[in-house]
Amino acid sequence: TRSPDITAPPMDDDASPQLLWADDGSPRSGRFGDVYFSKDDGLAETRAVFLQGCGLPEAWAGRSAFTVAELGFGTGLNIVALLDLWRRERPEGGRLKVFSVEGFPLTREEAARALAAWPELAETAAAVLAVWPAGTPGFHRLDLPQWGATIDLAVGDARWALEQWSGPADAWFLDGFSPALNPGMWSPEILALVAARSGSGARLATFTVAGAVRRGLADHGFTVEKKPGHGRKRERLEARMAGPGSDPSPDPSPLHVAVFGAGIAGAAVTRALIAEGVRVTVIEAERAGAGASGFPASLVTPRLDAGDALIAGLHAQALERAGALYRALPDAVVAEGVLQLEQAPRDAARFDKIAAQTLWPEGVMQRLDAAACSARLGEPVTRGGLMMKTALTVRSDAILEPWLAGAERIEARAERLEAAAEGWRVRGADDAILVEADAVVVAAGWGSARLAPESPLSPVAGQADWIEGATSAPPVAWGGYAAPTGRGMLYGATHERGIDAPEASDAASARNRATLTAALPERAADVEQAPVHGRRVAVRATTPDRLPLCGAWEDGLHVLTGLGSRGFCVAPLLGEHLAALLLGRPSPLPAEAAGRLNPRRHEAQPATTARVDSQG
Ligand code: SAM
Repeated sequence: TRSPDITAPPMDDDASPQLLWADDGSPRSGRFGDVYFSKDDGLAETRAVFLQGCGLPEAWAGRSAFTVAELGFGTGLNIVALLDLWRRERPEGGRLKVFSVEGFPLTREEAARALAAWPELAETAAAVLAVWPAGTPGFHRLDLPQWGATIDLAVGDARWALEQWSGPADAWFLDGFSPALNPGMWSPEILALVAARSGSGARLATFTVAGAVRRGLADHGFTVEKKPGHGRKRERLEARMAGPGSDPSPDPSPLHVAVFGAGIAGAAVTRALIAEGVRVTVIEAERAGAGASGFPASLVTPRLDAGDALIAGLHAQALERAGALYRALPDAVVAEGVLQLEQAPRDAARFDKIAAQTLWPEGVMQRLDAAACSARLGEPVTRGGLMMKTALTVRSDAILEPWLAGAERIEARAERLEAAAEGWRVRGADDAILVEADAVVVAAGWGSARLAPESPLSPVAGQADWIEGATSAPPVAWGGYAAPTGRGMLYGATHERGIDAPEASDAASARNRATLTAALPERAADVEQAPVHGRRVAVRATTPDRLPLCGAWEDGLHVLTGLGSRGFCVAPLLGEHLAALLLGRPSPLPAEAAGRLNPRRHEAQPATTARVDSQG
């Protein structure tokens, strides 16, 4: 049981599926006392009940995007069979969006063992197993770009997952264990949520013809039909929501979106939009990474929160997604793992709590005592720390350039946005029209404040310094930070609130040196010895609650800004969320998290008449 305001997916303390393996090698749930699939004809049954039951592949013919949602991910067999069909029958340029829910996730090894029963699916199964997610509670986005497909797997109770998912689905696979053994997957509340997350003309298939399921679906607008069953099962169910299938013919001209800013926020939105088949024009006054994303290295670290489960979960999900995308880029990752040192006395207890959060895969957040920290850092420190094993140090140029590569680029300063008959017009110097687009995304860091002047952004200037020359010193943060750049070491940073046009200074360099000396005197001594020194200052955009602004500012005008110092951690996931909002496709974010990022959350009441029409 849970109260309505609980922000983490409820899971049993023991979320193990309690797998048993039958003599024939097929998996069985000890928890529910039922089989995942039948060993002799499980694949044929999946194809007959779910794929054929939802009218696939015909139902997705000519569609630019098609969404399949499933209750009960289990071994992944249904989804692997779906992808296998999609690979062969994908409509040209089509995107497949899969959403599935699992309360008791299998490990990759367990799933591999189960799926090995189907040699003809081996190649598709291997691709899914390669991106198999951690079994931690929350949403996980998995990418199969080679087939234009994504899978959003919600780990948690089905009811929570459906409440948090935005939909809409074009097809449903209802595949809980049998209603008698697994009533929680078939309750009236679940069926009502399924109906509420269904698009016009949505199809639904399941193996059960239980009266309560038929009545529940019919009560919520489905037309339900019994069909002859597969194999030993006498009957199965097909159902259909009223209305034509949405998006029956693909739009001949793809959506065109103008993105302001070519830092990590703009690049992440651009990547996500291009992955969805959108045409993107990026407008940047200087060059990629000219703002706060342009240091020789960037830390990818989550905001740690021992109290607010939603903030903690959002950052755990963001870190997982960012890591998966950065690791796929050549030369992007400089170092794996960031050690966060205790800074204040209360940090010891706080880090204990964080290390115990179930949001992190086993062993990912590890408490280290002072001796272990000293060993890792190669010099004595007196404080313990939190080893964040999946946090990263990345090189921004190796990320920004490939993500912006598929976009048209305009090197100019956007001065003004105005609503056009359809979409938006962007004007630059002398009122010249730079571009017209169906929608715009303001992702220009602190520069966003000029284009969306009512946004609650404030500037915090930050200078970081670096040295060049070989170093093997691992990344570490404590309020200050020091991280390898691949060619040297970056350390910093200053925080100057309210400064929006800073200049790099000797005074700030001295402060950065002092911060480093206080924490790591031996490293600071290396800095003194280094022959080549560099420094740079930029402005972070911050918000009163230190959470990003991500979403619609008004119709067709979206923002992704206010990322503070966490841009490289949160932008990849939030870029996908924004792309989903723009396209009306399923978001990778739980609804509650999306709500906390709403760019208009700071307003007393939602403004519907606000205009964004700033003069320079
Ligand atoms: N579609 C799966 C496949 O292809 O392997 C088989 C699914 S199995 C029949 C049913 C799944 O529903 C199990 O993996 C089980 O753990 C999950 N499940 C049962 N009750 C649940 C609940 N309340 N919330 C989320 N998942 C649940």
